[in-house]
Amino acid sequence: MASTLETPIYLDNHATTALDPRVLEAMLPLWRGDYANPNSVTHRLGQHAHDLVESARSQIAESLGAQANEIIFTSGATESNNLALKGVALRRGQGHIISLATEHPSVIAPLQKLQRQGFQVTWLPVQGRESSNCGRIDLNQLSDAIQADTFLVSVMLANNEIGVLQPLREICDICHQRQGIWVHTDATQAVGKVPIRLDELPVDLMSWTAHKMYGPKGVGALYARQTPRRVRLLSEMDGGGQESGRRGGTLNTPGIVGMAKALELACREWPDWVDTTRQRRDRFYQNLSAAIGPLPLNGPSLSDPSRRLFNNLNCQFPGIDGHSLMIHTPQLCASTGSACTATSTEPSHVLQAIGLNPDQVRCSLRFGLSRFNTDADIDRAVEALVASVAQLRRSR
Ligand code: PMP
Repeated sequence: MASTLETPIYLDNHATTALDPRVLEAMLPLWRGDYANPNSVTHRLGQHAHDLVESARSQIAESLGAQANEIIFTSGATESNNLALKGVALRRGQGHIISLATEHPSVIAPLQKLQRQGFQVTWLPVQGRESSNCGRIDLNQLSDAIQADTFLVSVMLANNEIGVLQPLREICDICHQRQGIWVHTDATQAVGKVPIRLDELPVDLMSWTAHKMYGPKGVGALYARQTPRRVRLLSEMDGGGQESGRRGGTLNTPGIVGMAKALELACREWPDWVDTTRQRRDRFYQNLSAAIGPLPLNGPSLSDPSRRLFNNLNCQFPGIDGHSLMIHTPQLCASTGSACTATSTEPSHVLQAIGLNPDQVRCSLRFGLSRFNTDADIDRAVEALVASVAQLRRSR
């Protein structure tokens, strides 16, 4: 059935992205004829499904500089984060973990559960909005927080609200100076956008999902390093021993093939769209500010690609409630914070962590551009927001 809604301008690509039509094409045969269980290797159809999964695994591993046996397929980044954190911690039994105040709820909640089970967790703050390192970890604080029994450090690569990129290599260097500390990163917002080579970046565990890089929803992966030191995990999902016993359950064959295709396209075409998307994001912010007045930026400078995702914008509309602004602008899809906390009435923990007061949080909006956005989308989005702001100001 055709949608009755006029096609909106979609600038909510940190929540999810559209499926690339070529990813859909790659998946279609698996919804039609190639439906066998990839574990059913006793027959031809099952062997074919198994081969498709294994070739997707090899291709994903190759794109990221990993080995095929280091990739565990999951249902998405929430599951990958849970498996990484609880899997390492519960196998170990006790000790100290370090993470960041601005992590995604799918890292915060499992760590809070581990805390209730007796693990000690240190939540490091991030640098404030006045700093050129706004939103970033303070590496001295990380070094100081490490204890004799610290065994796990979890720091996201790219933040889903303010797009800040963490200095992961330096974090690994600090942690690996001490034997026995594993580094996990939630790279959900970075895979497919930021070049990542796991043969150069020495993280031990990395989570991601397909639906943030023009792939399907409901499929993701966890990278768990096997060499030179092997990360051992206690499985969360026990069943038929799939994924070498690390994650039971029938594999999502179409999703896995789709994720491999999405990553292949991202790696191949990345240079073609990063710069144009960055320029569109910058023009969007400039044109909005020129028409509305100063819109304080949340997060690091837009002009520093080493510190901020090229497609992220998060800014304040002073005196305007972000939620009302969205309701008054139905032709635009953006958000007041993370999609995973959209139903919560709590103000964004990320914006609070960089030092915004509740009023500043309330007047903030997050935009995430995609490679499918056009210049015309940006012009229409500016026009729509400027009109809504004028209307809301008049009604005050
Ligand atoms: N981590 C981050 C940083 C995210 O942005 C998201 C999705 N909002 C997740 C984890 C969870 O991903 P999934 O939807 O695949 O469970």
